[in-house]
Amino acid sequence: MIRILVAEDNAVNRELLRELLEACGYIVSEACDGQEALHMIEQAQPDLLLLDIGMPVLDGFAVIRRIREHPRLAALPVVAVTAYAMRGDREKILNSGFDGYLSKPLNPSSLSEELDRLLTKSAQSANQDQAQGDQCGRKNRAAGASDSGA
Ligand code: MN
Repeated sequence: MIRILVAEDNAVNRELLRELLEACGYIVSEACDGQEALHMIEQAQPDLLLLDIGMPVLDGFAVIRRIREHPRLAALPVVAVTAYAMRGDREKILNSGFDGYLSKPLNPSSLSEELDRLLTKSAQSANQDQAQGDQCGRKNRAAGASDSGA
């Protein structure tokens, strides 16, 4: 099973993401701010993190910096999910160590494509073509490729 952590301070957005992700078969956990997200990741590393930028306590930029500096967490795939949709913001986000970027309001098929791209890349770099399918179109999940058990 692929586990995704959603770090987002807005409860409505968290719920929306959870519903979309669970409909695609992912196991979802939630953090309400950046500090809680870091804490949860250190306890049990997810397969991917969806990270809001504007959050209390620690914002998304602070969280991604700490993840990339952390020896054990540095390779975690992280996708920014943010309403900061200006062109310069996108560049700033992608230069900050995020692997991908999704703008709000969230487009479900963009979400699905981005997850397929990143999870396929980390699980099995060979079979990238089938990631082009429709929403929730992942047929051949590389089960077990990323189960750390730790
Ligand atoms: Mn926010």
